[in-house]
Amino acid sequence: MTPEPSLGVDIGGTKTIAALIQGGDPGPSHELPTPASDGADAVLASAVELALAAAGDHRIDHVGVGAAGVIDHSTGRVLSATTALPGWQGTDVQAAFKAAFPNASVQVVNDVQAFTLAEWLYGAGRGASTVLGVTAGTGIGGALIIGGTIHCGATYAAGHIGHVLIPGAEGRLCPCGKYGHLEAVASGTAMTERYRELGRAAETLRDVAHAASTGDVAAHAVLDQGADALGAGLGSIANVLDPDVIVLGGGVARLGARWLERVRTAANAVTIPAIGQLRIEESMLGNAAVAVGASCTARGRGPRMNAPLAAEGHR
Ligand SMILES: [Zn+2]
Repeated sequence: MTPEPSLGVDIGGTKTIAALIQGGDPGPSHELPTPASDGADAVLASAVELALAAAGDHRIDHVGVGAAGVIDHSTGRVLSATTALPGWQGTDVQAAFKAAFPNASVQVVNDVQAFTLAEWLYGAGRGASTVLGVTAGTGIGGALIIGGTIHCGATYAAGHIGHVLIPGAEGRLCPCGKYGHLEAVASGTAMTERYRELGRAAETLRDVAHAASTGDVAAHAVLDQGADALGAGLGSIANVLDPDVIVLGGGVARLGARWLERVRTAANAVTIPAIGQLRIEESMLGNAAVAVGASCTARGRGPRMNAPLAAEGHR
């Protein structure tokens, strides 16, 4: 008998996605822009509404939510968040979904942890012992799985690769409130801002990417600078972690082959010889990765601090 599907929800800085998940296979996803500027209550209400629409008439036993910010997965609360989601800190995500799905178990985890888990179980990180998952979009997030363990760190904050110091980012304000971090130059938001500083018009990274495709030199310069910065960050972290593979997801990671090659080259320029050729791969699950990973945490016992995840098929 086919088990009932579980529900996976992805609350990101730009968009919110909800989908029914069967194993690693997402059904059609429901998607809305995240009403970030309307505040945390609006973001949460929109996500719950989307989840209810995705659930339809199905019996839902498990709801997994991958949310931006530092998440205490034992309570489902947001411990801290950047300016990408104003007022998000302190939000009780679990309570809102519990109220909407009273008969289901609800697990809330950090969105990049969910992404990395999904890629490790079903995607580009399959079979790897050490996987660094990195999502580059509105911001730049990271998460680490070593031997089936999601490493949450001492304060749930492990994996924040967007906030390493990067040459060339000096003086640039990061959404976390500090200066000179990777996210301040390599996120979609940062690259779009840099492009505007060059006197060009762009609403989103898509506009910058389009300009680059028409041969706009300024657009290429901004994207190259972002790729170089991200590569330098990944290479530096690889020297510490020696991962089997780094899996890249998010909107920025879909900039295309030229951008990805530039990231790989910049990363390998930084790694020590012992690392050899660093593997940096694109996400295989794409848009649905966070929802898939979050649903896995809900079906298992959920991630423990530095203890193996009890996700399906992996103990
Ligand atoms: Zn930062």
